[in-house]
Amino acid sequence: MTTADPTAESDAQRTEPTAKTVEPEAENAKSEAESAVETARRQLDRAAAHLDVDDGIVDRLRHPTSVYRVTIPLERDDGTRAMYTGYRAQHDSVRGPYKGGLRYHPDVSEDECIGLSMWMTWKCAVMDLPFGGAKGGVVVDPKDLSAAEKERLTRRFAEELRPVIGPMTDIPAPDMGTDPETMAWFMDAYSMQEGETEPGVVTGKPPVVGGSYGREKAPGRSVGIVAREAIDYYGWDVEDTTVAVQGFGSVGANAARYLDDLGAQIVAVSDVDGAIYDPDGLDTTDVEDHDETPGMVSGYDAPETLSNADLLELDVDVLIPAAIGNVLTGENAADVSAELIVEGANGPTTSTADRIFEERAIPVVPDILANAGGVTVSYFEWLQDINRRKWSLERVHEELETEMLRAWESVREEYDARDVTWRDAAYIVALSRVAEAHDARGLWP
Ligand code: GLU
Repeated sequence: MTTADPTAESDAQRTEPTAKTVEPEAENAKSEAESAVETARRQLDRAAAHLDVDDGIVDRLRHPTSVYRVTIPLERDDGTRAMYTGYRAQHDSVRGPYKGGLRYHPDVSEDECIGLSMWMTWKCAVMDLPFGGAKGGVVVDPKDLSAAEKERLTRRFAEELRPVIGPMTDIPAPDMGTDPETMAWFMDAYSMQEGETEPGVVTGKPPVVGGSYGREKAPGRSVGIVAREAIDYYGWDVEDTTVAVQGFGSVGANAARYLDDLGAQIVAVSDVDGAIYDPDGLDTTDVEDHDETPGMVSGYDAPETLSNADLLELDVDVLIPAAIGNVLTGENAADVSAELIVEGANGPTTSTADRIFEERAIPVVPDILANAGGVTVSYFEWLQDINRRKWSLERVHEELETEMLRAWESVREEYDARDVTWRDAAYIVALSRVAEAHDARGLWP
């Protein structure tokens, strides 16, 4: 619950983040139209510049191992047929099976899947999980499909991908536009064709068919845990910290509620239609999230409403963009007033915005660390599926806390030891692990 203390002197004794040396990058400053794969390659190159990694290995990691494109015919409810395109990009598997979500969204593209698959490699490596990176999806607006159509599309997509996925090769999971039910259909389609129940082929399933307790809330929970650690790192008191969260779906709502429980003032949250604002702090348990009732955020009776663009520029201590990618750009980065950004969505900050935040000494704790609770509990789920033994929610929470703190510490050590951003520090941790594994395994043949 939120308890605002109007007498609190929130900024009195704060440790201000200091500007680190900014490397000149003017000529190749990105255009805002940069694709996910271009952003991912640029981030890889920045991290590689800090490490003594074989150029051949870096070059390998600039490219996915394989990208599959499939066509998916669907019988619509009215009896007509429609064709959809689906992808699965498998980036790297040197540390274990490919791992990453399946997205149903009209903007899904081959390049986006490749970029997102690279981020999954780093996300799994920064968490030290025995997985590589993958991402896939279907170019479709799921809002245009009935539940029955979505089920048929998912089953056929699973069948088209069946030769290249499996519990020991490539393990999909939910992402934008997909959910536990989608994963149950996907697992069922795969299992029926394989002739045995294979819960480990996907994660993020409902607990009744091998899903893990705590998986759905895990990405938001990890954003909350990492924000808590970052607040502590800067010597702030969480109870004096104001937070704005863009996106009140599974990631944003769970992050907001986690921080609200710790006593932070969640002053603004938003959904796609707009934001609600209460300078004394909202009661985040009272605001229904997008999954509970879509559209309820902007309908909530709050003192003020704002646009999503205004929310991003609010004068708060912590900004959590937890909706979609590319919302913090060269256009608005100079107007962001938050003192700390913790990324809940995948890729919410463009490279241009990243440079502006670096110059302005606004720390950005990256997605590959902050929202990695999702894939971490996916790993727990996979272990439970393989062992046919369920963990309690308490165990999931305990182990998630341990893994998040371990990863936070590795990144913090690099951040403190080098003149780099939090994103570079996380990439340095991830790339060293992946490169070391490539070095140790060598090339075959
Ligand atoms: N789609 C989620 C992510 O971007 C989870 C992936 C997974 O659990 O494999 O991290």
